Amino acid sequence: MLPRPAQYLLRFDDLCPTISPRRWKRFLPLIEEFRLKPILAVIPDNRDLKLQVSRPDPEFWDLMRSLEFRGAAIALHGYQHLCQSWEASLLPLHRRSEFAGVPEATQREWIRHGLEILRGQNLTPRLWVAPRHGFDWTTLAVLRNAGITVLSDGFARVPVSRGGITWIPQQLWSPMEKSKGLWTICIHPNSVGREMVDELRRFLVKHAAQFTSVDRVLAEFDVSRMSMREQVYEHVATWRFQVSRFRRSAGRSSRAG
Ligand SMILES: [Zn+2]
Repeated sequence: MLPRPAQYLLRFDDLCPTISPRRWKRFLPLIEEFRLKPILAVIPDNRDLKLQVSRPDPEFWDLMRSLEFRGAAIALHGYQHLCQSWEASLLPLHRRSEFAGVPEATQREWIRHGLEILRGQNLTPRLWVAPRHGFDWTTLAVLRNAGITVLSDGFARVPVSRGGITWIPQQLWSPMEKSKGLWTICIHPNSVGREMVDELRRFLVKHAAQFTSVDRVLAEFDVSRMSMREQVYEHVATWRFQVSRFRRSAGRSSRAG
């Protein structure tokens, strides 16, 4: 049974010391005002040039610690965010990724080192968020062995267990009203403007009481293997995502041409 009314989780991606402080810090008053407990997907050792848009913020790690203290869940967001593998991911949403198809020993080393960096900053990484949704069964085994048994990804409408890991679904990239189920809204602060802050505020004014946390999700949901119904739902949602991405890129190339 899908819970009614819908519950929402908020996730911020690509957090690292060189993120645009202007864009990212616009969301902080909302976190404060509505007492949100978001997932913070932190890149341990960012080398992605697209995410090096400012000088390293000397307050970045302090801010992460203080948000975690107030209930946010820290997620390991890959290792260096360099997506150089073309191998297939368990979630076929993007062509390239950092982890899918990478040899086990390398994945083990990246995850071990990534966790060590975050823990060295006195953070407690609790879950996994893959750059570009890219990971494979090997990643899941490596995460389990490293003691990380929860991830945020997939298009189901309730948390499910797969490969010995609890998958908390992530299906939205902007606020959207839903009647039932659990929905994670993922925001990339580096690439959204003030309109997203305003949109999120309007949504929160209406739905703040429906926002939950990773702790509550893990305590309140009876996580089991994915039902046939959710498998069909996820299949259709994945196909819809691919079609809309294809349309967007076709639109861009015809405009460019
Ligand atoms: Zn990312």
